[in-house]
Amino acid sequence: MSDFDWNDERISALRKMWSEGLSATQIAARLGGASRNAVLGKVHRLRLQDRAPGCAPKPKTERIATRKKLQLARPPKPTVKPLVGQAQFARKKPDPVKVAEVKSIELRPAPIDMPKPLLTALIDLGRTDCRWPVEGEKSHMLFCGHPAQPESSYCAGHHRLSVGAGTRSERLAIPSKLMVA
Ligand SMILES: [Zn+2]
Repeated sequence: MSDFDWNDERISALRKMWSEGLSATQIAARLGGASRNAVLGKVHRLRLQDRAPGCAPKPKTERIATRKKLQLARPPKPTVKPLVGQAQFARKKPDPVKVAEVKSIELRPAPIDMPKPLLTALIDLGRTDCRWPVEGEKSHMLFCGHPAQPESSYCAGHHRLSVGAGTRSERLAIPSKLMVA
């Protein structure tokens, strides 16, 4: 190995065989008496190791070409976004809940303005209080007692009930009789 006699003839033979692409084992066998490691050590010392034809790395250009080929094989990125926003806008319809609310409001009957009777006794009934009899009889009769409408003996709600009822005079007669008594 280290004691191998590298004379000029053997060194030149090594250079030649190395440049021809022979492996270290082949060179060592042809030189005779030299081990593979001795050949490799001499190659290193002679700075011949760059040859390495069998294990040469791939040229960079080839690798770049391969990479470009892979990039081309990929499907191109979509440049236009899906029309999600437009689809949602097209699907938009009138809100059914809001429509139902409007209809219920329109169909709702007008509230009857009928206040809860104050159940005022005749003696406490003012001249402008509603005289609609609510409960009781005769002297124990209790009346609505809410402020009466102008030109009427009743509040708004009871005036509406009294119109066309045909009993207004009868109802008016009761308190007047009681007042007389
Ligand atoms: Zn009333």
